[in-house]
Amino acid sequence: MIDYFRRRLGARLLLSYLVIIVVGVLVLVIASQFILPTSFNRHMNGMMDGGMGMGMGMNNSMGQLYVDFRASFNEALTYATLAAMLAASILSLFFSRSVIAPVHAMSLATQRIADGQYDERVQVNGNDELAQLAVYFNQMAEKLNEVETMRRQLIGDVSHELRTPLTAIKGSMEGLMDGVLPATDETYQQVHAEAERLNHLVNDLQELSRVEARAYQLDIRPLDASTLVRTVTKRLFPHAESKRITLDFELSPDLPHVLADEDRAVQVLTNLTGNALQYTPDGGRVTISAKRISNAIQFSVRDTGIGIPPEHLSHIFDRFYRVDKSRSRQTGGGSGIGLTIARALIEAHGGRIWVESAGEELGSVFNFTIPIAKSK
Ligand code: ADP
Repeated sequence: MIDYFRRRLGARLLLSYLVIIVVGVLVLVIASQFILPTSFNRHMNGMMDGGMGMGMGMNNSMGQLYVDFRASFNEALTYATLAAMLAASILSLFFSRSVIAPVHAMSLATQRIADGQYDERVQVNGNDELAQLAVYFNQMAEKLNEVETMRRQLIGDVSHELRTPLTAIKGSMEGLMDGVLPATDETYQQVHAEAERLNHLVNDLQELSRVEARAYQLDIRPLDASTLVRTVTKRLFPHAESKRITLDFELSPDLPHVLADEDRAVQVLTNLTGNALQYTPDGGRVTISAKRISNAIQFSVRDTGIGIPPEHLSHIFDRFYRVDKSRSRQTGGGSGIGLTIARALIEAHGGRIWVESAGEELGSVFNFTIPIAKSK
């Protein structure tokens, strides 16, 4: 019961009104029991001392009695009103302080957040509706802080990523203008490759912002998991052959259908297999597999490539993250956005994506799950 009053602002408000009413009634009772008789006696004595004898007319005497009774009653009522007002003032002061203080703190914090101080938080006292509001307020401030940090980081990352190819293009152009660089095909190809890299980066960024903001439609329908694997294998087979990499697949028999958007599922599997081919030296092997695990199908892309050192595993899906930036540039690697897009797409399907690698030069396995359409 006490806990209920602690948690409910409305109940506390009602309780304070009840207390004021009870105090008022109590004071009235005390007044009628004690103050009224005393005051009445005093007035009566005054009346007697004033020489109101029995000889006076009965009408006069009753009139005076009525006047005195009214005076004593008013006196008692004045005391009762004063006492009730005092009780009401103390209670409302106490109650409004417990309401106004947190509201005031929150309005100050709101102003500070509006001024850009995203680390602002309010104190949470008790567990009533206002305390709950303070908890939600702090959660909102935390979220704003995170978004702001991400925004700053994104601007920093994008500027950094744009600067590298731009500097290269600018340097080559200046060299050409000064005559330091020969105007050969090779120089133009270098400039073109950097411009191509910029183009690629901008496209990736556009795709990433669309995917992260969920600004796209998923056409989810039951799909045959083995067809998905076969399609991607076929598509990347020529690329694997040109690198003398064996590309094959392993499929569990009787695979149920998955619930997925075909284009997006192919996009993710192509991305992971493309990466595997890119980070596996000539003569290696890349295997795509699919098997059922409880209510989902687990797709895996295993390679015998350069592997990923353990300290990088937890960051590999972060935006712009590359294990070795210089190596990635030399091998024609991308901007480190592909896996971030893949993760967003898989999570939008209600699945999970993760990576395993025993370490450098020991190959990697990229896995993701997609829920199955219905059990077979
Ligand atoms: P990128 O476009 O640079 O390949 P990704 O987001 O696809 O970007 O990959 C991020 C980084 O993860 C890569 O730069 C590379 O360092 C690492 N990586 C991805 N796939 C593999 C793989 N199969 N083997 C080893 N490293 C990989």
